[in-house]
Amino acid sequence: KQQGRNNFQWYTSDLNERVCEHARLRNDLQKAIDTELLELHYQPQIETRTGRVSGIEALLRWEHPQRGFISPAVFVPVAEDSGQIIPLSLWVLDTACAQLRQLGEQGITGISMAVNISPMHFQRGHFVQFVQNILEKHGLCGEQLELEITESLLLHNAEQAIDTLHRLKALGVRIALDDFGTGFSSLSYLKRLPIDKIKIDRSFIQELDTDCHDAAIIQGIISMAHHLSLTVVAEGVETESQAAFLKGSRCDVLQGYYFAKPMNYEALEVFLRG
Ligand code: C2E
Ligand code: MG
Ligand code: MG
Ligand code: MG
Repeated sequence: KQQGRNNFQWYTSDLNERVCEHARLRNDLQKAIDTELLELHYQPQIETRTGRVSGIEALLRWEHPQRGFISPAVFVPVAEDSGQIIPLSLWVLDTACAQLRQLGEQGITGISMAVNISPMHFQRGHFVQFVQNILEKHGLCGEQLELEITESLLLHNAEQAIDTLHRLKALGVRIALDDFGTGFSSLSYLKRLPIDKIKIDRSFIQELDTDCHDAAIIQGIISMAHHLSLTVVAEGVETESQAAFLKGSRCDVLQGYYFAKPMNYEALEVFLRG
């Protein structure tokens, strides 16, 4: 009984700690949004057929004044819980499109911009209108923008989500299904979703060199995707042998530290000038 109590005590203080941490992060994040402490970094995506950079993915970066770098994997879920993801996501789309236009003005063209979209933002009423306004504001055409979504989008109102995807596609915007293979019923979604691309999750690429099952799974995914006329991106490519295997397996686009880490706009411009 005594032990039970102690355990309970321990459990509640642990829970309290987590609630406090969550509240602290939320407060600090609001300050970061208000004072523009957030930044976008960009990671190049390489087309295997030509070896050229065909796209870049925008990734949020937050340098906390006291705590240093905080991963979006940590603060994006906090922002989703608090609703802060909406203003944050609007800022990301606006900034990413502004910088793509800036690249164009520097003579760097033929590159598309991929932006991660939270289900919560995607499901908001005016999302499509907002995307259209942003494209017009920066003088971009829909084909230059790619939105990365995940299967979790379909958990709540699948019909509405599919309708939104169709309306985005009518603008020319491309849709990529991120973290493919980590969800629960990927295959049935592939049939229903009007998407252009799938991004094979990093976890499959990581153990390619040591796990022959991953190699088989990846080749299966690529073959299936091509039969469905989808483009395949591999994320988290870190080694030459992974890149060689993926290229040999006719994966269309590669992204990962082996080619380039995410970098700020200035570094990106230098990288793209090559
Ligand atoms: P994601 O969209 O799947 O992004 C890929 C993640 O893999 C990024 O982590 C990227 O930096 C990392 N990565 C790329 N290549 C390699 C590699 O070769 N090795 C390893 N170990 N990692 C690699 P990051 O930037 O920490 O982002 C984590 C997640 O946070 C993203 O996963 C995405 O779900 C979310 N996120 C980032 N930016 C945004 C944003 O603007 N909006 C929303 N809603 N979510 C975002
Ligand atoms: Mg992504
Ligand atoms: Mg991903
Ligand atoms: Mg991921």
